Amino acid sequence: MSDITIIKTDNPGTLPDENSLGFGNYFTDHLFEMDYNPQDGWHNPRIVPYHEFSVSPANTTLHYGQGIFEGMKAFRTVDDRVVLFRPLEYLNRLNRSADVLCIPRVDVDLVHKALLKLIEIEKNWVPAKQGTSLYIRPFIFATDPYLGLRVAENYKMAIILSPVGAYYAAGFNPVKIRVEDKYVRAVPGGLGEAKTLGNYAASLRAAVDAKKVGYAQTLWLDGIERKYIEEVGAMNIFFKINGEIITPALTGSILGGITRKTVLEIAKEWGFKATERRISIDEVFEAHAKGQLEEVFGTGTAAVISPVGELSWKGEKLIINDNKTGEFAQKLYDYVTGLQYGEVEDKFNWVETVTKA
Ligand SMILES: *Cc1c(COP(=O)(O)O)cnc(C)c1O
Repeated sequence: MSDITIIKTDNPGTLPDENSLGFGNYFTDHLFEMDYNPQDGWHNPRIVPYHEFSVSPANTTLHYGQGIFEGMKAFRTVDDRVVLFRPLEYLNRLNRSADVLCIPRVDVDLVHKALLKLIEIEKNWVPAKQGTSLYIRPFIFATDPYLGLRVAENYKMAIILSPVGAYYAAGFNPVKIRVEDKYVRAVPGGLGEAKTLGNYAASLRAAVDAKKVGYAQTLWLDGIERKYIEEVGAMNIFFKINGEIITPALTGSILGGITRKTVLEIAKEWGFKATERRISIDEVFEAHAKGQLEEVFGTGTAAVISPVGELSWKGEKLIINDNKTGEFAQKLYDYVTGLQYGEVEDKFNWVETVTKA
């Protein structure tokens, strides 16, 4: 039952020019999929040529959003291996999201095995240029053809792969972020801690408004008091105040990032005081007024580290570290990408080799 069927394509494609990949535009030759029904559980795991899915017009995910996803990456190292970074962390988080959405858990060992096999088959799609990678998108969605609102009985899981360009093609530059004071992303008791479809739909209006006034991203405040900092659209947020590294605690409405966890572990290893706690937007403005706000940066799989140069809240602007990348953010970025591209010794055991050179 857990044997993975493999059917290869007769006409494989080729990796496009590594300088013009962008994000999420191209897909590799194959995908992984398996299905769930109440009788057989998860069954028929298979790696097959990339293809479209057809769904009933009454598909429950289209109507009610019962779906989840993950986002991770494979890298080509400087010595030409293909590697994954902390893959089990992402697959275990998929199961935690599944619990929140009443989706049946997957067998992480089986999916891990399938992922390694899929990446091995698609190894020529892993770009080599510094900063590029093969983005991995596992996802699960309900497939019942039924219009009533209930937990679905049938599901599909798939993994698709997309070669992506360097996030910082134009250099490692600080971003401008607007603190959102009108809309909220999630509330305690809601779905904020899951990587589920509706959370991203909930972020769109605020992103459009922020863009209109020249801001690239939204920083969300808590949904009740609109006072405590939560996270950025698809990144967690860190502050360096008076030497201490601070990130909001995971209170149920924040997505627990793997990069966030990685940064906390590295900061402690480097001897910093690294704290997960409530932090209000007032505290950040006060720290800035006292000259103690040293750095602000976002963390996520896409960018790894994203320095923040400006925070705007209710018309007030904070310029952080002269709008320059901070020393700590730079050091973290160099270290984590060094691990991912095989330039730094993997002393945490976070890197899994898929194919040898
Ligand atoms: C994926 C995601 C993050 C970052 O998580 P990583 O595991 O570090 O990629 C942060 N916030 C949200 C809302 C996310 O969806």
